[in-house]
Amino acid sequence: MIQAALTRGEIAVLGLGRSGVAVARLLAREGARVYASDAGSSDAVTQAVAALRAEGIAAEGGRHDLARIRAASLVVVSPGVPPEALPLAAACESGVAVVGELEVALHVLRGVPYIAVTGTNGKSTVTAMAAHLLSALGHRTVAAGNIGRALSDVALAGERPDWIALEISSFQLHDTPGLQPDVGVLTNLSPDHLDRYATVEDYYADKALLYRNATPASRWVVNADDRRALELGMGHPGTRWAFSRLDAFTTAHYDGARDALMLFKEPLIWRHDLPLLGWHNMENTLAALLAVMVADPAHQTKTARAVLADAVRSFRGLPHRLEIVADAGGVQWINDSKATNVSSARVAIEAMIRPTVVLLGGKHKGEPYTALLEPLKAHAKLVIAFGEAEPLIADDLQGRVPLERGGSSFEYVMHRARAAATPGDAVLLAPACSSFDMFTNYEARGEAFRHLAQALP
Ligand code: ADP
Repeated sequence: MIQAALTRGEIAVLGLGRSGVAVARLLAREGARVYASDAGSSDAVTQAVAALRAEGIAAEGGRHDLARIRAASLVVVSPGVPPEALPLAAACESGVAVVGELEVALHVLRGVPYIAVTGTNGKSTVTAMAAHLLSALGHRTVAAGNIGRALSDVALAGERPDWIALEISSFQLHDTPGLQPDVGVLTNLSPDHLDRYATVEDYYADKALLYRNATPASRWVVNADDRRALELGMGHPGTRWAFSRLDAFTTAHYDGARDALMLFKEPLIWRHDLPLLGWHNMENTLAALLAVMVADPAHQTKTARAVLADAVRSFRGLPHRLEIVADAGGVQWINDSKATNVSSARVAIEAMIRPTVVLLGGKHKGEPYTALLEPLKAHAKLVIAFGEAEPLIADDLQGRVPLERGGSSFEYVMHRARAAATPGDAVLLAPACSSFDMFTNYEARGEAFRHLAQALP
């Protein structure tokens, strides 16, 4: 499909974020005629338009030329563009095929093996760790996709790595019809993105597209502790390898008696050697190790196992995931701004070993907060609810755990957290919401937390 579109008519790129700009350039380099547009008119869009035009690529901000999009040979859409957006509807009405940026990048990089990682939570951590492990084994590896660097940017730079660790979101799965990973990983499944999907089943249906081109040669890494994720992976061709926190019959699991992570029946690393906090990160470690070890049987030898164990020990977590950003006056300040849904906030709260002031809030995504009651009762000395979701959080939790309302000034929220925390406590930002009511993204929210925590007397 991509090959045919490259030489036929014009390709319309919708959305000029990082991946949109990269794919517009990549398509142009591959010989296509490109029209790139973005309805926004922020500084970033204006700069992107100017840069593309300077390279001879037709681009505009502030509007989409619908007639031009209707006449395109292919539409390449950014994951941020909602499915009901006007230009997408126009493309569909006119029968123009719509794909995402990854479809184009994978076409250009065909032949390079890749591990695709999806799931509700843990994608970035597993992707980054898999890339780290593959690099330690001596492979030139890049981590790309939803994790940050657009795969089109890798293709554009002319890189042909030995392996790609590709993080792929449900929106990206929806628009990547040619996805066929060498190893596919589904970390877990729980309700998320209910602000964008009509039902949770629709969300899971997009996740199931990981398996869309499964063949008998496919390799799948599945989570035996997650019934929904396990069921989603059933019935597709290929071989499945399971990881589990509990089930000793799986290929990768935790053995409580030995306190070891067992891979292919042998201990690979002791749990107390894991650098990341929380049970969920042990699951992420099992998933990453298993994916890398099934990617190539050469990664299962004794020598490779020793390299992998060392690499796990040297893995540093990603920013905004249970990141300790300050330790002052006996209080630890922990940034888990990436906990943008209820299930991720839940594991973050469960990972706390000190009495904790928990900062919850932001833009509501549709899930109830009552699922947090149990871990909050066990770990929270106070919840401070803030942002747009504050009244909903208060409705769900007030009277059941100590709760204070923080309003919509993050400085004030931090000031209250400081007042409540005493030596030996932790303050955890695990918002269970997206950031868009008060910040441009979760990174900006995490940076504000870091900055304010480090500025405290
Ligand atoms: P993703 O890329 O899927 O958002 P990340 O690795 O960036 O996943 O982690 C995001 C947040 O999700 C973390 O801050 C943590 O709170 C939570 N999390 C990470 N791994 C898991 C897991 N295996 N199960 C549940 N929650 C997790």
